[in-house]
Amino acid sequence: MPTPRVEEIEKRRWDVCVVGSGAGGGAAAYRLGTLGVNTLVLEAGPRFSPSEYRLDRPGWDLVSFPLPADPRWKEKDRYTSGTGQPLPAQYSHLQSTLQGLRRYQHPPDRRAPFVYEHARGVGGSTLHFQGEAHRFHPSAFRMRTLHGVGEDWPLTYDDLAPFYDGAERVLGVAGSAENPFKPPRGPYPLPPHRLSWASRRIARAAGKLGLQLLPNSLAILSQPYDGRPPCNYCAGCTWGCPLRDKGSWDQTFLAKAEATGRVWILPEALVHRVETDKQGRVSGVLFSDKEGRERRVKARVVLLACGAIETPRLLLNSAGNQFPHGLANGSGQVGKHFLETVHAGVTGRFADRLDAHRGLPIDSRIWDFVAPDPRRGFTAGCVLGVSQIAGDLLSPFRHAVSLSAAWGTAHKAFMRKSFGRVVHLFGITDQLPNPGSRVVLDPTVKDAFGLPVARIEAALGENEWRAMAFILNTSRDLLAAAGAEEILGQTTAFDLPHASHVFGTCRMGTDPSKSIVNAEGRAHEAPNLYILDASLFPTAGGGDSPSLTIAAVALRAAGLLAERLKEFP
Ligand SMILES: Cc1cc2nc3c(=O)[nH]c(=O)nc-3n(C[C@H](O)[C@H](O)[C@H](O)COP(=O)(O)OP(=O)(O)OC[C@H]3O[C@@H](n4cnc5c(N)ncnc54)[C@H](O)[C@@H]3O)c2cc1C
Ligand code: SF4
Repeated sequence: MPTPRVEEIEKRRWDVCVVGSGAGGGAAAYRLGTLGVNTLVLEAGPRFSPSEYRLDRPGWDLVSFPLPADPRWKEKDRYTSGTGQPLPAQYSHLQSTLQGLRRYQHPPDRRAPFVYEHARGVGGSTLHFQGEAHRFHPSAFRMRTLHGVGEDWPLTYDDLAPFYDGAERVLGVAGSAENPFKPPRGPYPLPPHRLSWASRRIARAAGKLGLQLLPNSLAILSQPYDGRPPCNYCAGCTWGCPLRDKGSWDQTFLAKAEATGRVWILPEALVHRVETDKQGRVSGVLFSDKEGRERRVKARVVLLACGAIETPRLLLNSAGNQFPHGLANGSGQVGKHFLETVHAGVTGRFADRLDAHRGLPIDSRIWDFVAPDPRRGFTAGCVLGVSQIAGDLLSPFRHAVSLSAAWGTAHKAFMRKSFGRVVHLFGITDQLPNPGSRVVLDPTVKDAFGLPVARIEAALGENEWRAMAFILNTSRDLLAAAGAEEILGQTTAFDLPHASHVFGTCRMGTDPSKSIVNAEGRAHEAPNLYILDASLFPTAGGGDSPSLTIAAVALRAAGLLAERLKEFP
């Protein structure tokens, strides 16, 4: 679709202005467009074309997802990290040991500075996601009722089930409905991908330990679907998929949204402030266009979907006379209850080649532990799997950087002995909210537009340390049962908080003193302000990946919003 002219956009009063085009904003815009709602999407990042993702270019694996050279989009301008949490000495066995981790410089007794992994562009972080398309386990929505920790969601798995179905159809999810650890369901739109050699080896080991390694459910096409070709198993998903078979939101929800003719997307439009009228109703937003000029749009409803770091930042930066502590923040809860990706993994070396660096980045998962069971010594779900990407091992160069400590002939000997022969097993688990984990405005650092950046303060607790120890022990047992010759090292969130799944900073709930939005994503304090992204998750999903749930929540809420539009003249 051609990019609309800014002047044209400013002339109209939009039914809904969506800020951010990632997993939440993209799905919401799609549903609004199909329901005939005139919707403007403002996206801070550019529009990428799959032809830019040249995985055949020399040095492709030296960079992460392509970002434009424009210094305004530099990561360091967007957030800062609080002083690292002191590390408990009794859990020092959780310390990351892989050679390549030396690049994360930090004092040995503190967590490294927080790294918020995300992508800025039309499609948001799904541009470089690995395509995992998971439904959360029903218990993830009821942690307070079932286990007395965290908060219940104001909706249940059953409320979301039809919207999970809808999201899977748009994405073309490939998977197997035979998963005894999840609720019964109908067939996926596409059959599952075949397991890689490495996953087959680990599957046999899992069987010996009484566990089941199952094909992952992925928004990656196993057959032609909806005008897109099937995957060629190049493993480059996190660098952007050149074939378009990965269901990043630009190729799926947003392409379909634009095709309705009701949804316009303006890239490189950075929203600074949500504006309100004298009655305290939201009236539109202020943003900078591609040239850095300040622009204003008017809308009946503003829907924020900037992700769990930028959405609270935008609310706090939108403080004014009527909202002195930030928009929708009378309760003081904006930015609180921040939840990060609690990860742990072990790399093992085998005698024979398994070529785990080829194929899908995460083709299999072990869901035996997705439902929390306090008898394990912690109250959280966790999901394990085979993932070279989590071990940073997806090419010879990444392999060398991550694992080799040697130079010259010793380095060559190490590579000959290990390349193609290593497997990384990893797991993700829940974090329970704690007062030390939150997003606030940085008191001193401002971005290129003079606005305070977000400051991420991240701290884990006893429950997370124990869950990580469980994942490490289980991974080691699996590698041993699979015949690994040597353990090369481990990486954990204990000292390395790099998080791609972040949640909780504007959580949903029924009690306005404890939450920001209701089950429809509608702000308790501003009736025509909506939030539909990962920030509204009260819990982290038991180790499953979040994008499908973000989409399901957004599809449901956007349908209800379309029905309510008449309330906002
Ligand atoms: C490397 C990596 C791999 C991942 N793999 C998976 C996976 O396999 N499966 C899975 O389910 N999840 C995965 N995730 C996580 C998933 O991508 C995110 O959880 C999800 O995209 C979050 O959705 P969101 O809508 O909250 O935010 P995002 O998708 O991050 O979208 C936010 C958008 O808002 C824009 N924005 C921010 N501020 C402003 C502003 N002020 N004005 C205008 N626009 C703004 C941003 O540019 C961005 O495009 C992965 C993430 C990463 C980083
Ligand atoms: S592995 Fe498949 S989905 Fe991933 S980038 Fe390659 S072709 Fe695309």
